[in-house]
Amino acid sequence: MANDNKRFQAIISHCKEYGFIFPSSEIYDGLSAVYDYGQWGSELKKNIRDYWWKSMTQLRENIVGIDAAIFMHPTTWKASGHVDNFSDPMIDNKDSKKRYRVDHLIEAHADELEATGKKVEAEALLAEMDRLLAAVDFPGLKKLIEDRKIKCSVGGTSNWTDVRQFNLMFSTQLGSVAEEASEIYLRPETAQGIFVNFLNVQKTGRMKIPFGIAQTGKAFRNEIVARQFIFRMREFEQMEMQFFIRPGTQKEWYEYWKNERMQWHLSLGIPKEKYRFHDHVKLAHYADAACDIEYDFPIGFKEVEGIHSRTDFDLRSHQEYSKKKMQYFDPEINQNYIPYVIETSIGLDRTFLMIISEAYWEEDLSTAEKQDSRVVLKLPPKLAPIKLAVLPLTKKDGLPEIARAIMDANKPHFRCFYEEKDAIGKRYRRMDAIGTPFCVTVDHQTKEDNTVTIRYRDSMQQERVAIHTLRDIVDKQIS
Ligand code: ATP
Repeated sequence: MANDNKRFQAIISHCKEYGFIFPSSEIYDGLSAVYDYGQWGSELKKNIRDYWWKSMTQLRENIVGIDAAIFMHPTTWKASGHVDNFSDPMIDNKDSKKRYRVDHLIEAHADELEATGKKVEAEALLAEMDRLLAAVDFPGLKKLIEDRKIKCSVGGTSNWTDVRQFNLMFSTQLGSVAEEASEIYLRPETAQGIFVNFLNVQKTGRMKIPFGIAQTGKAFRNEIVARQFIFRMREFEQMEMQFFIRPGTQKEWYEYWKNERMQWHLSLGIPKEKYRFHDHVKLAHYADAACDIEYDFPIGFKEVEGIHSRTDFDLRSHQEYSKKKMQYFDPEINQNYIPYVIETSIGLDRTFLMIISEAYWEEDLSTAEKQDSRVVLKLPPKLAPIKLAVLPLTKKDGLPEIARAIMDANKPHFRCFYEEKDAIGKRYRRMDAIGTPFCVTVDHQTKEDNTVTIRYRDSMQQERVAIHTLRDIVDKQIS
């Protein structure tokens, strides 16, 4: 799908209107690139996180999870290279004062070229940009921007500053008295919490290589160009796994994890053609191979997950800075070594955006007699915030009591929702809009034969089923 801004805006509005995502501190006009998850958004996010966690830890005997603190000793970030290297080349427009990440500015220009049929020119531009980024050639990048007459989207001029580096880490003070306080960083990735605990986990868990350590949690980056809703935020959540391997085996394991992670993505029910791999030309300071899994968002193909062959860079560097050995004794080959690492790193918020983009449908249900439409989130049932809505047809005649009994029987097993207000059709539509896969209606026949009408979200088909079979019907779809 090419850039579909209208659809993207519709998804953003839908997320707000139906309690998925709100701008942070909205009563004070919000905070740029920071968002809060509402009642249904937090459920969906939790379900995605749980699904990742289960598939990476519970279903694998050689991967365990940890939950490290956000604050870490400041030397961690010196050792990891973030103090010196975690910066992006930026350029400012002198007239509008707007600051751009250089790669984003050039990529946006390439998108425009492509949209006007100049695909070859766009590809050549991107190839040249990759070459200059890889060579850290800042004057060359500036020249490229000027030669191609790339303009500021706000002021419309090409009056650019030099290209400069800008560190993305947030810092704060630890300690109550200013003189005693030391500067620390909010972690820009969760991975380092795994590296510094590598030996703790390996020893206490008696882990044998190859093995992995997984973690989910918040990360913070002072992104300059933080637009595009939850795609790029300043506070976001990552789901990362570091897989420790014998040096020399990184190529095979890199391919293995590329494949495993793609299978995970496909298990979300998203078709293959909506994904692609993008190999990195400019490798990060720690990597000997790296690629992204990109998804075709309404704003175009963009990264959701990174897979990186990180060599022994991090452990070796922590060994140097901490003077603590980061070695593993491999009994199979009778050797000590610093393990190599393959990392899989996926953003929870970007996965959320991907899943909701895929699920969002505007359906025209008009017939010859009347105009009708609905917005439905066709979320995979295992991820839907609510699994079963229980709706008594009326508020009287003992129907609410039966509905409440159905709630009580099912709510210990999965998230249920009770609602008796408004006409049944309206209630169905509200459940469609938040992606509830099953609605059951309790009516007068229920009193006679203990059956209810179950309505399936995607097909809108209805059938009568016995009350006692409901749990099974839902369980089959969500397990
Ligand atoms: P980008 O090139 O888009 O800035 P990145 O390559 O810096 O991303 P990584 O450092 O590889 O990203 O982080 C792993 C994952 O974390 C990304 O694939 C993405 O899903 C997520 N992520 C990174 N930065 C952000 C952000 N600012 N907001 C939301 N998610 C993010």
